Amino acid sequence: MVVVMQERASDEQVQKVIAKLVEMGFDVHRSTGALRTVLGAVGGSSRNYDTALIEVLDGVQEVLRITEPYKLASRTFKPDNTVITIGDVRIGGDEVIVMAGPCSAETEEQVETSAAAVKRAGAKVLRGGAFKPRSSPYSFQGLGEEGLRLLKAAADRHNLKLVSEVMDISQLELIERYADILQVGARNMQNFTLLRELGRSKKPIMLKRGISATIEEWLLSAEYILAGGNMNVMLCERGIRTFESYTRNTLDISAIPVVQKLSHLPVLADPSHGTGKRDKVAPMARAAVAAGCDGLLIEVHHDPDHALSDGAQSLFPSQFDRLMAELRIIAPAIGRSICLEPVSKRGWGGSR
Ligand code: PEP
Ligand code: MN
Repeated sequence: MVVVMQERASDEQVQKVIAKLVEMGFDVHRSTGALRTVLGAVGGSSRNYDTALIEVLDGVQEVLRITEPYKLASRTFKPDNTVITIGDVRIGGDEVIVMAGPCSAETEEQVETSAAAVKRAGAKVLRGGAFKPRSSPYSFQGLGEEGLRLLKAAADRHNLKLVSEVMDISQLELIERYADILQVGARNMQNFTLLRELGRSKKPIMLKRGISATIEEWLLSAEYILAGGNMNVMLCERGIRTFESYTRNTLDISAIPVVQKLSHLPVLADPSHGTGKRDKVAPMARAAVAAGCDGLLIEVHHDPDHALSDGAQSLFPSQFDRLMAELRIIAPAIGRSICLEPVSKRGWGGSR
């Protein structure tokens, strides 16, 4: 249930309500908004409780049952958007945050060139995997810690934040030392033991949608992390598996407004994995921004034809430049911005 306190409720009154909820067997999550405090009580759902016991307490405005199966992820619990702040980067605010870089870290030159290119074009976060979930055990599996070292050094050199995937609990401590955002890949969206562990992490989490997950299942996975105490969760729509075979996945753009209505968590879109094809990435990135996404995750490689993973869907730096220029026109049309000042006004570099 959600307990909405009155605007002028004192801290003492809030504490008394929390104590009563704990006595009733709930875990209580407090959210202090600009105007009032809201308490989310979870864990007691299977029990038959009487909301009137809370309604009569001093300072309580109203008590709502959360009907959605996810509680802390719901807008009923937290009506205001969650904004995740990492230094000077705010995810979920007015600015659409672009995260870009190679699929995987391969060499120092590759990581450095890609990082320099995405920074110049206006990205705020460098993406790159060091531990790769590959469909085949014979494909390149990532450089491990060496990859993280290369990514972190390039991110620092270019004043970018770093997002990188954690595939397994055993990698968590290591990746936490290097990355600013921990990515949970589509294949791990329902790895509940991993999600629980991430609930204890101090780092923001990017939770990708599973390849066949419904939006409700996706939000329930976010709930695992939130229930563990980590409220800095962003969601990333990366395409779902459908009967269509002309694209690698079907990017569900409608998931963006659907999630934004149901949840306060920021929603990003990944048009690279969403389409699997380079020439489809820019149109879908433009569509995702127009649909209101809070950020984009895009693969960019300085030499995609020789990439060790996902070359076919990786943009050339010049294509990424062009896309960013287009997004700077689209975002203001819906009241958003994207890195207003391009770092460099260099040309678009030909037709690619
Ligand atoms: C990735 O972003 O590198 C990745 C592997 O994505 P997904 O989990 O969406 O396939
Ligand atoms: Mn990839």
